[in-house]
Amino acid sequence: MIKGTAASDGIGIGKVLVIEEHSLEYTPRTITDTEAETERFNGAVKEFIENTEAQAEALRKSAGDKEAEIMTGHITMINDPYLRGEIEALIKGGQCAESALETMCDMFIQMFSAADDEMMKQRAADVRDIKTGVLSILLGIKEVKVSEAPAGTVLVARELTPSVTAGINKDNIVGIITETGGKTSHSAILARALEIPAVLSVPDAASLFKNDQCVIVDGSSGEVIADPDEEQTNVYTKKRSDFIAERKELEKFRGVSTKSASGEEYELVCNIGKPADAVKAMECDGEGVGLFRTEFLFMDRTAMPTEEEQFEAYKKAALIVKGKPLIIRTLDIGGDKDIPYMGLAKEENPFMGFRAIRYCLKNRDMFKVQIRAILRASAFGDVRIMFPLVTCVDEVRDGKALVEECKAELRAENAEFNEKIPVGIMVETAAAAVLADVLAKESDFFSIGTNDLTGYTMACDRGNSDVSYLYSALQPSVLRMIKRTIECGRAEGIPVGMCGEAAANPQMIPLLMSFGLTEFSVSAPSVLKVRKCISKWTKQEADEVCAKVMSLATEKEADEYLSKVCVR
Ligand code: PEP
Ligand code: MG
Repeated sequence: MIKGTAASDGIGIGKVLVIEEHSLEYTPRTITDTEAETERFNGAVKEFIENTEAQAEALRKSAGDKEAEIMTGHITMINDPYLRGEIEALIKGGQCAESALETMCDMFIQMFSAADDEMMKQRAADVRDIKTGVLSILLGIKEVKVSEAPAGTVLVARELTPSVTAGINKDNIVGIITETGGKTSHSAILARALEIPAVLSVPDAASLFKNDQCVIVDGSSGEVIADPDEEQTNVYTKKRSDFIAERKELEKFRGVSTKSASGEEYELVCNIGKPADAVKAMECDGEGVGLFRTEFLFMDRTAMPTEEEQFEAYKKAALIVKGKPLIIRTLDIGGDKDIPYMGLAKEENPFMGFRAIRYCLKNRDMFKVQIRAILRASAFGDVRIMFPLVTCVDEVRDGKALVEECKAELRAENAEFNEKIPVGIMVETAAAAVLADVLAKESDFFSIGTNDLTGYTMACDRGNSDVSYLYSALQPSVLRMIKRTIECGRAEGIPVGMCGEAAANPQMIPLLMSFGLTEFSVSAPSVLKVRKCISKWTKQEADEVCAKVMSLATEKEADEYLSKVCVR
């Protein structure tokens, strides 16, 4: 078995077609008739644009408008006046068209590749694609016609360029394997849009596999099996039909509201780490964002993001979700999340130490920068503030006082923001769950963080394999914490959501429905599964299952019972 990066879900079984790369070598020449050479270059660009327009059109039909934009983006890039002007200047200086094109494209490729940002790196792949396209035309090379590949083909390439992908007929291509590219590369995006299973970053794939060799591509696990035996073929054929049936079934839950079988409505939102994740959340039919983990904006850099940088990030997410809720959690660092430039001291017991809201309230200037940025972003959507790791009322009051201080400053600056921005808390410590009746009077909403709540309730570190058997939200004590939190929130009339992993657990869902949870916040790919799961239960059935589970004494009993009744 060969392992790569799982980039597009599903199973493909078929025969290999290796996309060979033609040599783009040429001997640079010195040009005397520079006008004719410029004309030759412009002619090649014109042909490239025509080809690309045709590919964009093909992609628009097979994948969608957004995917076609990847190709039209190539046209914009090659038409960039600076790029074109510089190439023409080099030709005027005596370089041949091939060499002038290569010099300028390589400069951009180098510049984009050096950037930290994944999107910028992707730009480098786009310029490489443009360079190959125009150079091939200048050298008179004909590209392989992927569109003519026979049914049951698994494409293998060093890099799956958007221009090759655009030629894919999704009825014939059953799998994709490449040597390069990650989950966020254009190859991956296009493979997902075309719903073709893809495994990327398989070292030496183009030389490892031979034309007509039989392979299985598992785009969900990132595994590739070459020359499978009969048993493997049978196992994966079954997996493939199960996957197709499940995908079809889930599609019925796209674009509909999240409702129980008896008609109660729920909010089904997503957890995100970066503004770009909000796009995925919307694509996956999320109804907003229930948790924006802002610490990711602070990681992988050498200094704190400024108010302006944070404002831009929050505003971007708000604009992407277009008026749907966007719950921004203030900085949750410490514990397992270290940010070197913040100078957090090494602690004996970091999970019990100086982290999250505790750290922020002691570093008020830094905290105010974030609060001001969130407040300013609230002018662009339904933005809400959420404090992490709350354990007592003072933290909520103190945090809210800072919000008021920032509001006063912004008012004085005539900056726009939502005066009534809701301020809620995460209930993820045992202290907060026990004190939920009091905290509910001080908060506009609760979101239960079962990842931490389970650990803190069970006094158990999930990373420690000796005690991880205790780490389960189905532990009777954790269930009681959750139930109490929801009941206290409801008694005070505030919404209670859940953004911990348990919100997407099919065994937990009937219990959460019965307790009265109003919002489920899950990872984007889980949205349709959770919506389907909720739709299978009537409130009464959920209440009966819940009553039974709450009468059981152990986690094992609850798990055994739920694994029987939750098969729906
Ligand atoms: C949680 O604790 O459940 C939670 C959602 O927060 P995080 O996983 O970011 O700690
Ligand atoms: Mg947490």
